Amino acid sequence: MSCDCGGLLEVRQDFRLADAERLKTLFDCRLALRTGPYASGVWRYKELIDPELEEAHIVTRGEGNTGLYDCAPAAIHAGVRRVWLKAQGENPSGSFKDNGMTAAVSRGVFAGYRAFACASTGNTSSSLAMYAAWAGLRCVVLVPPGGVAANKLMQTLAYGAEVYGIEGGYDAGVRLLNRCGEALGLYVCNSVNPFRIEGQKSMIIEAAHQLGWTLPDWVVLPGGALSNASALGKGLLEMKAIGLIGKVPRIAVVQAEGASPFHRMIASGGGELVPEPAPRTAASAIRIGNPPSWRKAARVLRDCAGVTCAVSDEAIMAAKRVIDRSGIGCEPAAAAGLAGLKKLAAEGTISRDETALVVLTGHMLKDADALRVSVPDPGLSPLAPDELFSRLAGVR
Ligand SMILES: *Cc1c(COP(=O)(O)O)cnc(C)c1O
Repeated sequence: MSCDCGGLLEVRQDFRLADAERLKTLFDCRLALRTGPYASGVWRYKELIDPELEEAHIVTRGEGNTGLYDCAPAAIHAGVRRVWLKAQGENPSGSFKDNGMTAAVSRGVFAGYRAFACASTGNTSSSLAMYAAWAGLRCVVLVPPGGVAANKLMQTLAYGAEVYGIEGGYDAGVRLLNRCGEALGLYVCNSVNPFRIEGQKSMIIEAAHQLGWTLPDWVVLPGGALSNASALGKGLLEMKAIGLIGKVPRIAVVQAEGASPFHRMIASGGGELVPEPAPRTAASAIRIGNPPSWRKAARVLRDCAGVTCAVSDEAIMAAKRVIDRSGIGCEPAAAAGLAGLKKLAAEGTISRDETALVVLTGHMLKDADALRVSVPDPGLSPLAPDELFSRLAGVR
């Protein structure tokens, strides 16, 4: 899946003949569909995702179609005028990885593969395992032992994937599959797979569609392997080129302080990423020291007037509490975006009267350990009904 030059491949489509008004009408018509591939929030936009793929090869679970919520508590927390939360945890396996995985698995099936593989910090494996089970395919998953939230591992096993621990963690897993996947007959579905990037673009296309083809001033998201940042920027620039949107929002990529090689590179003005050998953060989904897609993400930052920042685990957990209490909820990595927005607003990089779309990448139930830390122990010793009544009456 890599070029001879060592860089990653990228899908380039020719949109010169695309007609924005015709596409908008087509996408609107598909909103009425309840079943079939075009009811998916990814394949609704097939003309922009993978126009050449034959419909019969689409492997879909109706992914995408996630809510976009105008969340006042999040705006107050960050100190900006308005915050939209794009709740990607509402995907069928509980994270944004489904948007990309449906595209990659469909392409693998189209190419005749029956066995699929990935290295994962958790959500990628849950997603691939789900699609493999649904389509009756073999699924091999490499995980950093002890480095994956328990629920994600259980979910992956429950879908029937073969799970192996790998020494050296996520980064070593990516390296091994890049080198040997093909020889083992495995279709590799890490974010180096260019079709995953194409599928992940649908998140921002769907958000633009939901908001009537205008977007807020900023799009803010957490960065781990940096595939999502790459996809989002690509989607924005293509929508602008086609004429679906008039203006490209600025992008902010947020990393955890203990796993922030990309932020360090950008902040120091360097042109080469220096990997972080021992990445540390409670937000396991972004605990990545050597992000494969950093070149693509750097290009996106340049083309979308983007910025980066790094936030502490405390700031991540504080943002998570706000998102949980607002009634939406998310896992720790997903909360990094709001924590970053708050920091960038405090620094003055983002102005207080600007608006932002914050991508919530994963569902709150993905990481039960994080919940145990962030909520009080309920101490559920049973009370007699009379006692309970007087307590509740007292509370009132
Ligand atoms: C994968 C993941 C990320 C990081 O996305 P990248 O594309 O690797 O930068 C962030 N949050 C969650 C919940 C994830 O699963």
